[in-house]
Amino acid sequence: MQPDVQMFAKPFDAVVIGGSYAGLSAAMQLARGRRNVAVIDAGKPRNRFATASHGFFGQDGAEPARMIAAAREKLAAYPNVYFVADEASDARGHEGAFTVTLVSGPMLEASRLVLATGITDILPDMPGLADRWGVSVLHCPYCHGYEFGGAPLGVLATTPHCAEKALMITEWGPTTLFLNGQPMPDAGVLAKLARRGVTIEPSRIAVLDGEERTLQAVVLADGRRIAMAALYLTPRTVMASPLAERLGCSFEDGFFGPIIVTDGKKATSVPGVFAAGDAARGMHNATWASADGVTAGAAVHHSLIFEGLDAA
Ligand SMILES: Cc1cc2nc3c(=O)[nH]c(=O)nc-3n(C[C@H](O)[C@H](O)[C@H](O)COP(=O)(O)OP(=O)(O)OC[C@H]3O[C@@H](n4cnc5c(N)ncnc54)[C@H](O)[C@@H]3O)c2cc1C
Repeated sequence: MQPDVQMFAKPFDAVVIGGSYAGLSAAMQLARGRRNVAVIDAGKPRNRFATASHGFFGQDGAEPARMIAAAREKLAAYPNVYFVADEASDARGHEGAFTVTLVSGPMLEASRLVLATGITDILPDMPGLADRWGVSVLHCPYCHGYEFGGAPLGVLATTPHCAEKALMITEWGPTTLFLNGQPMPDAGVLAKLARRGVTIEPSRIAVLDGEERTLQAVVLADGRRIAMAALYLTPRTVMASPLAERLGCSFEDGFFGPIIVTDGKKATSVPGVFAAGDAARGMHNATWASADGVTAGAAVHHSLIFEGLDAA
């Protein structure tokens, strides 16, 4: 049984907000550095909609929740790690003295913060789309593509750049680009699409159809049914948590939405605040998130070791 965090008179060396691929990886470095670390997690990793995760070292095809549970189990072996199943509603302070408030009320104090809070996908409003997210409506063919075994695949145009995605998806199966109201690509792009054998469908989509969460057909507004095993799209993303903004961290435009600016050690623009994972990088997958977490965790540890030494 974990002790109540309110019982700790001393602050944690670090509080990690977000306990998924990035956060647990950061906490592991701090745990192994013999520091007291708290991991606060609201339990909503970005890929929770998927039934399997692909491409992660040694875990290809594993269920996302099981991967995270396994990582937590390893971390729980360290008595200097404390898990808090809650949402952090506020974080403030400065390097050496941060305070994190939980939705349930208690506060945690920490010398350093690691934000590993992830991002949220903003899905287009289309009948049958949200229910299939992570199974047959997808964003990343490396994560989910091989499994469709060369069956017909679609790309939903949500921005003029989506033609690029259609050029790529042909690696995984015969591809249709559904414009769904987006303008026809220019002549140069059309020529590339033709060279890659992409079919262009200008009509609007009425509904995605299929048994349970599978996709069998894209039904167009004019009534035609186009057989399809999966539909790819590129959602815009937003921060899953407002804490980075509240702490004053700088942001930049990533490929899909705003990301927290970090340096090579995953330090943000706010001293003592580090950020890792999808929230702080332009390209996203579990491996990169975990690797960033390792970088952030080690960097936090180094900053704790070396603080004040120069002044002595
Ligand atoms: C549908 C889908 C399928 C995917 N499939 C794959 C795949 O097959 N292979 C792959 O490598 N990648 C895949 N990805 C990408 C992968 O999910 C992300 O790259 C990865 O989850 C990022 O890890 P993270 O730790 O940065 O954030 P997340 O995994 O999103 O975790 C963030 C955590 O922080 C918590 N949190 C947020 N705010 C707070 C707060 N204020 N207080 C407390 N906790 C908070 C959340 O609840 C969550 O648990 C997929 C993504 C999607 C959307």
